[in-house]
Amino acid sequence: MLRVGLAMLQGARHEHAEALRGAAKELHLEIEIVECRRADHVDESLDALVLPGGESTTMRIASRYESLLGALFEWMDTHPERPVLGTCAGAILLAAPEEGRAPYLAAGISRNAWGRQRESFEAVVDVSLDVPKATYQETEPAGRDRFAHQPLEVASQAASALKEGFPGVFIRAPRFDQASVECTPVVHLGEEVVGVLDGKKLGVTFHPELTLDRRFHRWLLHEANITSEGA
Ligand code: GLN
Repeated sequence: MLRVGLAMLQGARHEHAEALRGAAKELHLEIEIVECRRADHVDESLDALVLPGGESTTMRIASRYESLLGALFEWMDTHPERPVLGTCAGAILLAAPEEGRAPYLAAGISRNAWGRQRESFEAVVDVSLDVPKATYQETEPAGRDRFAHQPLEVASQAASALKEGFPGVFIRAPRFDQASVECTPVVHLGEEVVGVLDGKKLGVTFHPELTLDRRFHRWLLHEANITSEGA
């Protein structure tokens, strides 16, 4: 049983929980999702961690009260071999954690850097990440989940036309400072790097949890499984 921490910072958390459950089914893995609301929820037993998107400033302020963010950083420092997926604001936290703490991604990042007209958009991105294929396919057509969220099927269909394409949903997204990327680029939007891998930390500037393609969540679970088996 893998224990996956989900940082309950402000932002898209329930969608990540659904995506993790879907990815676990696709890989035939048993997982338990640990909702991390307070510092003491972030413990040794976690095999992996998700830092969701949202609003990074609000996250930083809100988490001061329960010292959650500090505990998440401490956990990452103690367990560099355990995988972490940071999406959008989560990627900001990985690339620019806080004063006095070294970045987890060797890449500079700028908030809200797509400019006003393009604050939010969908586009197919190219993924070059080693991810096990799903060995299980949902037979029911996807509908609303129990939170009444409707996954973005239109984007998914467009992306499935491309072999490695993935439906990228960018919502007031940050941007990696392209010249500063010193870790492995793994997702591109045209020429632009929109996802990077640094050791076991994966940061993407879009929202994979809003689509039906569970590739990034499968990556997280697969890595966690390898690490926990080796331990
Ligand atoms: N604009 C947000 C920030 O700077 C990130 C947006 C997101 O996570 N969707 O924190």
